[in-house]
Amino acid sequence: MGGSSRVEVGVVGIPAQPRSASAASRSPAVPLLALLCACASAGAVEPAGVPPAAMPPIVEHLLPWSTDRERLTVSYLRAHRTAPLTGNAEVDTRMVPRAIVLHWTAGPTASSAWHTFAPALLAGRADLADAGALNVGAHFLVDRDGTIERLADETRILRHCIGLNHVAIGIENVGGGVELPLTEAQVAANAALVRGLAARHPIEVLLGHLEYRRMESSPLFEERDPAYRTQKPDPGADFMVRVRAAVADLGLAAPPPQPP
Ligand SMILES: [Zn+2]
Repeated sequence: MGGSSRVEVGVVGIPAQPRSASAASRSPAVPLLALLCACASAGAVEPAGVPPAAMPPIVEHLLPWSTDRERLTVSYLRAHRTAPLTGNAEVDTRMVPRAIVLHWTAGPTASSAWHTFAPALLAGRADLADAGALNVGAHFLVDRDGTIERLADETRILRHCIGLNHVAIGIENVGGGVELPLTEAQVAANAALVRGLAARHPIEVLLGHLEYRRMESSPLFEERDPAYRTQKPDPGADFMVRVRAAVADLGLAAPPPQPP
């Protein structure tokens, strides 16, 4: 949008009189032909194009976005991002999503996960508290039956994956581990969601939380503190194999292999 408005400004800015006179003195056939060709080619290509994937059905169940959460998000980003912030909180807490990280909640219900993510302040997570008071969160929550809830705007930065929060959409899955293995319905819902998101944003990488440390060599990864790392098992290697198989045609990258 910005590009086309810049072009318009440029055209308007050109002194009109001499330019029109000069254009009128040349043959009008060339620009007219060019215009016709552009239309014809657009008409020929458009029907054959593949329409972008639609988003699957989603239940809106937004986490509160409060001034506290915004403030804590900015503090977190200031402490952890290597790129400078702009100083405008609304801008600094937004992102262009370039990665999708899949998780499991390790809890039994969507409701318990929602209520864990809803407060702005982190609680009961000693392993994360030193790195900031911002609560963890996710953009989407997929229930055991495949129901997808939207918890946050896709371009809002949430805390869910060290080093990648400023570029990554987080999808949480209810359950996980030996007790509550993730379901086929969750595989299908995650695949549909990834497909829809990849059609709406310049997504390059699909990863499981358990794979995030393999992203440390990626230019997408930003974390100031080399000691701030966690070991994550979610959402399981098998789940990643199944979701990746279902969206293989999208050509999304996986994280680079673990260095030896
Ligand atoms: Zn996780």
